[in-house]
Amino acid sequence: MRSLIAGNWKMHGEMSWAGKADELEKLYPAKNRTHLDILICPPALFIAPMVRSCSKANINLGGQNCHAQENGAHTGEVSAQMLKLAGANFVIVGHSERRAAGETDKMVRDKASAANRAGITPIICVGESLAQRESGKAEAVVSAQIKSSIPEIEDYVVAYEPIWAIGTGKTATAKDIEQMHAPIRKIVGEGVRILYGGSVKPANAKEILSTKNVNGALIGGASLEMESLAAIAKAA
Ligand code: PEP
Repeated sequence: MRSLIAGNWKMHGEMSWAGKADELEKLYPAKNRTHLDILICPPALFIAPMVRSCSKANINLGGQNCHAQENGAHTGEVSAQMLKLAGANFVIVGHSERRAAGETDKMVRDKASAANRAGITPIICVGESLAQRESGKAEAVVSAQIKSSIPEIEDYVVAYEPIWAIGTGKTATAKDIEQMHAPIRKIVGEGVRILYGGSVKPANAKEILSTKNVNGALIGGASLEMESLAAIAKAA
């Protein structure tokens, strides 16, 4: 299965960051990475200005969230259809930072369905809190999230992101990751890419990306610098 190396820029960036695609292309040219997919998810309004440089560098673009409906009276929201029109072919749904702001499994499932209807691939995020892990409930929590957040669609990606490892510098061990990706694999089957996310960096990328049932990474902080994003992609 092709690896997917996905950068989540969160609420970082400016218009000039469109040039980062050229930077990445210099560091790791497209002709040397035909075995993997690279994706950048910038803030939605930077997608369109990045289309040219990203398509030249064979880098996919994605949104970080979408609304479940195509259009309507939803001030401040962006639909999956709009992301597609802007140039995205992926969208992250159910990131823990959004779940913490009140997004439920049902909302995540509806957003993933909307992405599918719009013709873009949802990256459906799941992950347990530290308290849930420490009380031995991590697998049950993640399995329940998977079952309730994934609609009846074929084209999707799952990102397992333990909440306690996001932006904290704490990474799950290869054993923790393997132990969680195995039951996820059982639920989603062989054809679905399962990414790991949570403080992935050049220093730990090789070990994480060579763990069983890991088909790529969702990267926050380390995706803001092209040197580190390229180094992580080279490890895939
Ligand atoms: C993320 O935001 O999805 C993430 C994994 O962030 P970081 O790599 O910074 O932990």
